Amino acid sequence: MSRIAYVNGRYLPHAEAGVHIEDRGYQFADGVYEVCGVRDGKLMDETLHLERLQRSLRELRIGMPVPLPALRHILRETIRQNRISNGMVYFQVTRGVAPRDHPFPKDARPSLVVTAKRLNEGRIAAAVASGVEVITLPDRRWARRDIKSIALLPNILAKQAAREAGAYEAWLVDADGFVTEGSSTNAWIVDREGRLVTRPAGPDILNGITRRVLLEAARREGIEVVERPFTPEEAKSAREAFISASSAIIIPVIRIDGQPVGNAVPGSTTLRLREAYSRVGELS
Ligand code: PLP
Repeated sequence: MSRIAYVNGRYLPHAEAGVHIEDRGYQFADGVYEVCGVRDGKLMDETLHLERLQRSLRELRIGMPVPLPALRHILRETIRQNRISNGMVYFQVTRGVAPRDHPFPKDARPSLVVTAKRLNEGRIAAAVASGVEVITLPDRRWARRDIKSIALLPNILAKQAAREAGAYEAWLVDADGFVTEGSSTNAWIVDREGRLVTRPAGPDILNGITRRVLLEAARREGIEVVERPFTPEEAKSAREAFISASSAIIIPVIRIDGQPVGNAVPGSTTLRLREAYSRVGELS
């Protein structure tokens, strides 16, 4: 079955779908995006993703491309037309098409693109079962990482460096020596006292939807949570470490810069939280 993409009002064969060469997303990365998980044909934490999309758009003064109920419908229709039961829906809004010029165009209409794909469940299951390795690298991104911008050049360079080092993810380290987050994931440790530690939300990180749901899941599980920055050295001597994102929820980290975390096997709190997520995350 061929894939279908939604582009500005039309559902098109994926291979033929495209935006104009003067779309500001293409020319300036002037846009934002969301990735929402799909489980059993339902959207995971849809409301939180839509709220974050609207916040990102507001911060950049880009309008909503369609009213919210229409967007909800388009997401479902894209999932339906692609017959996705377990996968992801990607949606991107840019400032629209206009002659190339840096200032905001006066009358451009925001562009909306939506695609959906199946999850590589085997790959995720393997990563969860074995745990993965991360490397640490300097964080070279801009100062507004709370906006889910499509400008991801430092993120992709970091991910590529990780892959070339045989690692799954890169943890980015700020100028003060603290981990901010992964190139496409939030970063967590379980400290020696069994407390769950992750960096507080703010301009330095993307406030992951999975991060938010996991914080709630941890509290409900009675796991003590501390939102504070941690260093790579602390992480290397932590009991457990893991990464979170909508695509895979939680993946255990068993090695950082080649050094084992704990016994270099997925940690019990990590796996417990992965279970707990499904009880707190919302399907709609
Ligand atoms: N941090 C970054 C830089 C990301 O790109 C992502 C996801 O794409 C996340 C964190 C995790 O966010 P979420 O849980 O909303 O998928």
